[in-house]
Amino acid sequence: MLLTDKFGRAITDLRISITDRCNYKCVYCRTGNEGALYGDLPFADYLRISRVLVSLGITKIRITGGEPLLRKGVVDFVRNLREFNADLDLAITTNGHLLADLAQQLKEAGLNRVTVSMDAVDPDRFTRITRVPGGFDRVLTGVRSARDAELGPVKVNCVLMRGFNEDQIIPFGMFAREEGVIVRFIEFMPLEEDRVWAPETVVTLDEILRRMAEYRPLVEISHARSETARRYRFDDGIGEIGIIAPVSHPFCGHCSRIRITSDGKIRTCLFSVWDHDLHELMRRGASDAELAEFIRSVVQRKEARHHIGEPDFVPASRTMVHIGG
Ligand code: SAM
Repeated sequence: MLLTDKFGRAITDLRISITDRCNYKCVYCRTGNEGALYGDLPFADYLRISRVLVSLGITKIRITGGEPLLRKGVVDFVRNLREFNADLDLAITTNGHLLADLAQQLKEAGLNRVTVSMDAVDPDRFTRITRVPGGFDRVLTGVRSARDAELGPVKVNCVLMRGFNEDQIIPFGMFAREEGVIVRFIEFMPLEEDRVWAPETVVTLDEILRRMAEYRPLVEISHARSETARRYRFDDGIGEIGIIAPVSHPFCGHCSRIRITSDGKIRTCLFSVWDHDLHELMRRGASDAELAEFIRSVVQRKEARHHIGEPDFVPASRTMVHIGG
């Protein structure tokens, strides 16, 4: 029996965070200082959790963080996941800083795809957002290494935040066409450590489309219902962009995701105000069947939707870096 919640949504997509440490301090995610850490687990625990979840119907695993490539052993983790299931769709989300040296190894270990977060194509703008000097060239090299290693199609995620990078929309359209990567714009969500989110800071899907149309016409192409991004091609067929619009066009009704935090908690929604301690059960010696039963009961409590921008909105109990985006 597959994992489904009480609204009939099938849960097929796992995001697993393998560390909540990060080497960047992006303004829409972290504070400018070091911030708190919840810690991480041995890879054997993430493997066991993944195995139980795959037995329940998970078909896609995205490794994330924090910054997952900071964690020594990530290549072996990918290899071990691949060894236990040849059909899994395996992806990593990374800031790309350490990707150039790892892309080929990750491919050989069995990774299918990489998504790189990159919020500006202008180096100065990039540094203002990440708050770490010297990253731009490394990330660009990382994107190209992933493309050369055929970890693709490589996706480049750009969180747009008013006052920081809304002028990068057209340059990113050009970038997608020139580099042969899919650029996906993400609406800023209230999941940052500094609590600076306000409706005016969000650059919405409509605005992105309007601005991009000043460069070249876009044609919408079909996307799977559970896919987070709406997809568009430029009118001449060269270059694809996506827009992930959880704020202005929520897609909770088709959500197929659950998350495991780096310290082994299950989160059923980015905006959950609680999480569920799977690792504590493991520590107490639970069998795989008991873990599966716990996961099933937690999934039944998956939230119907988020309440961003509504009067009853309650901030999530963790910020993005500690959830795993
Ligand atoms: N360090 C990796 C990276 O940079 O991709 C993985 C973790 S990061 C938390 C995962 C994704 O969450 C990134 O694409 C990042 O841009 C996105 N993200 C972080 N905070 C966000 C926010 N407040 N709103 C929207 N997306 C956010």
